[in-house]
Amino acid sequence: MKSLTLLGATGSVGSSTLDVVARHPDRYRVVALTAHRSADALLALAIRHRPRYAVLSGLAEDRALRQRFNLEAGVELLFGANALEQVASDPACDAVMAAIVGAAGLGATIAAARAGKQVLLANKEALVMAGPLFMRAVAEAGARLLPIDSEHNAVFQCLPSGTNPGTGSVRRIVLTASGGPFRAAPLEGLSEVTPEQACAHPNWVMGRKISVDSATMMNKGLEVIEAHWLFGAAPSTIDVLIHPQSIVHSLVEYVDGSMIAQLSNPDMRVPIAHALAHPERIESGAAALDLAAVGRLSFERPDAQRFPCLGLAYAALGAGGTAPAILNAANEAAVEAFLAGQLRYTAIHDVIRHTLERVPAGRADTLGAVLESDARARAAAAAFSARMREQVA
Ligand code: NAD
Ligand code: MG
Repeated sequence: MKSLTLLGATGSVGSSTLDVVARHPDRYRVVALTAHRSADALLALAIRHRPRYAVLSGLAEDRALRQRFNLEAGVELLFGANALEQVASDPACDAVMAAIVGAAGLGATIAAARAGKQVLLANKEALVMAGPLFMRAVAEAGARLLPIDSEHNAVFQCLPSGTNPGTGSVRRIVLTASGGPFRAAPLEGLSEVTPEQACAHPNWVMGRKISVDSATMMNKGLEVIEAHWLFGAAPSTIDVLIHPQSIVHSLVEYVDGSMIAQLSNPDMRVPIAHALAHPERIESGAAALDLAAVGRLSFERPDAQRFPCLGLAYAALGAGGTAPAILNAANEAAVEAFLAGQLRYTAIHDVIRHTLERVPAGRADTLGAVLESDARARAAAAAFSARMREQVA
């Protein structure tokens, strides 16, 4: 029996995780479920999965709500961001699914690593922001890091354990990307696209932030940085290919010319089930892949003009220190402004580039240093976005 804390239970990855967990009541027990503010959705999940704790990280102490969770679900309800770290390091849990979106997940994800948990990592932003600190925490505490991001989970399945790309038998890894909803849209029209259009992903149903990241391909940029830390891969050994069908989730190239790929339908329950059961295999609920029905798999190189954010991510990885944290914070701020109708889609890239130019990167050796760069980047990105709005007005 594995006991699981699920950070971000009400989200897209959270729901897929609970779907897999519910198929195997003999294998998994839920210790804690967290949501930011959606009390009703969290209560429904608590009634269904009966954890010991539920957490509303975005709300202050509320006695009536606490009583309701206790009466209706028999669950202890905790409030505030600190409770995330508490349930992530609780001695009663073996594994932590880190599925909060964005920098907000960093503290609890690092806490899980420091507590030596098995960390199932969906929250890529945490690793992008604090790669060296995160990997040190994992090593020092003897934590086990298992990738949930479909590309990294695919690489993990195809890479011999302990091999770093670019050394020994492995030449490089290739992360695939769908190209998002605007892969073939006329470039001239991109400045006018709406949040709804950007969130209408052709192959995956995901949270809004990662959907916009997929449209700009900043998602792939963040994933290049994520792969660097997860697999000890130099940037020159991480390639990106557009693969519009999202069937091949990533590939590993060997020195003899072989390539090994992982294929499945685009369904997050596949990597989630893989990581939950590792090193065993369990049913995920995903439909079997019918390759004859898919018919054709195609690949193309990403166009730097259409997807300029990808280059910014490689540059931030090359610059090192807190540059990836600055990139991530500027992106979060720009995507938030875009989703709120305050920034043009094409200005997302301008905001990130400007922020990387303005905010100097420092050493990423303490959480404090990372969070300071994050805060400075958000302030610079917000000021630049506001100036762009005035110019348009
Ligand atoms: P989502 O928006 O659907 O869900 C986010 C979850 O985090 C919710 O439970 C929400 O309550 C919680 N949350 C939001 N803001 C918070 C805050 N400030 N503090 C604490 N909790 C907060 O997001 P998602 O699509 O499930 O993505 C979650 C993470 O997984 C992201 O890092 C994303 O990049 C990664 N990921 C998602 C997918 C996918 O298919 N959705 C695939 C690969 C990786
Ligand atoms: Mg991914």
